[in-house]
Amino acid sequence: MSLLETLAGKGLRREPPTREEALALLATSDDDLLDVVAAAGRVRRHWFGRRVKLNYLVNLKSGLCPEDCSYCSQRLGSKAEVLTYTWLKPEEAADAAVAGVSAGAKRVCLVASGRGPTDRDVDRVADTIAAIKDRRPDVEICACLGLLRDGQGERLRDAGAHAYNHNLNTSEERYGGICTTHGFDDRADTVRRSRDAGLSACSGLIAGMGESDEDLVDVAFALRGLGVDSVPVNFLIPFEGTPLAGQWRLTPQRCLRILAMVRFVCPDVEVRLAGGREIHLRSLQPLALHVVNSIFLGDYLTSEGQAGKADLDMIADAGFEVEAADVPTMPGPGPAPGGGDGAVPVPEGEPPVSHAGLVAVRRRGAGTDLPPNA
Ligand code: SF4
Repeated sequence: MSLLETLAGKGLRREPPTREEALALLATSDDDLLDVVAAAGRVRRHWFGRRVKLNYLVNLKSGLCPEDCSYCSQRLGSKAEVLTYTWLKPEEAADAAVAGVSAGAKRVCLVASGRGPTDRDVDRVADTIAAIKDRRPDVEICACLGLLRDGQGERLRDAGAHAYNHNLNTSEERYGGICTTHGFDDRADTVRRSRDAGLSACSGLIAGMGESDEDLVDVAFALRGLGVDSVPVNFLIPFEGTPLAGQWRLTPQRCLRILAMVRFVCPDVEVRLAGGREIHLRSLQPLALHVVNSIFLGDYLTSEGQAGKADLDMIADAGFEVEAADVPTMPGPGPAPGGGDGAVPVPEGEPPVSHAGLVAVRRRGAGTDLPPNA
C-alpha cells in the first residue's frame, strides 16, 4: 500500500501514523502535492465534512512582554513597531469580539501578552467574558494569557471560558533555541493545567523558524500526547525588529505538507490554519481548506490579515461552508457520519526569497480608534 493510502486509512480509523510515516510525508516532492492534499482531504472530510470553523482574535494587551520568544513581535527588546497598549476595558474588547462574531466567528480568542496572568488579570478577563457573553451568549471563548498557576484555569472556566490556548510552538529539543525565559515543560504544564481544569485544550506550533522535519513531527506528536482538542498551525511572520526577521524559508508547498502531516497525526482534532497563512501560502490558501477545518478570520494579534470578506469569499469559492454556532466542532466517539536572543541556526542552502512587503503591522481594531477587520 502506498504511503498516502496508509496515512489516509489510519486517519479514517483515528490511528496516528508512525513517526517514520510522518517524516516520509514531509519529504514528499512537490510533484506529489495534490495527492498529499487529496489524502489529507479524505480524512478532513470524514471527520469534519466541509465545515470551516471561524475564530476571531482580540488582543487584550499588546506588546511590552518580559519574555524573549524570538519569533514574537511583542517580546522583550522587540524593535517591531507594533501597537502597544495595556488591558482593554471589557466593553472595548466586547465591541471587537462582537464584530468578529457578527462576521461568522464561532470562537473568540482573548489574548494578552506576558509570561502569565496575575489573579487580578484573571478577574479582568472574567469581566471581559461576561461583557461578551452578555451580548453574544452562545460564543465560545478561548483565553490565551500565558502560563497558568494554581486555580486560574478553574476561575476562567467558572467565568464562562470554553477553552485555553497555550502553544508548544516547537519540539522540546529545539525549545531552548527559540526562548530562554521559559521552557517547553512550562508550556506543556499549562496545557495540562487547562485540560485538568475542564477547559478545552488548544495548543499548536509555529513552522518556519529554522526547525527540522524531526522537530515538526516531534511537536505534532507531543500535541497529540497532550490530548489537545485544537491545533493552530502558524507559519512564522518574520517581523522586522525581531531576531527572526528575514527568515523566509517556507514555500506554499511545504506549508501544505506541514498541515497535512498535522492532520494525519491528529486526524479527528480541530486543525486550524493560523498566523502567516496569507504571506506564506499566498495564492494556495484555498488548497489548505481541504486539510484544515478551522481558520482565523481577519487580523492577527499584531499584524493584519486579509480582509474578513476575502476569507469568507475564499471559503465559499472553494466549496466549503462556515460552521454554524449550533453545530459541534468535534466528532463524537465512533465512526464519523461522513534563542533566547536570536541564536537560531539558519539552514544551509539557497538564500531565502523575502516577502517582507507582505507583512503589515496591525493598525486597526482592538486598541485603536479604527473599526476591526471582520
Ligand atoms: S509569545 Fe507570549 S510570552 Fe512569548 S514574547 Fe510573545 S507575548 Fe511574550
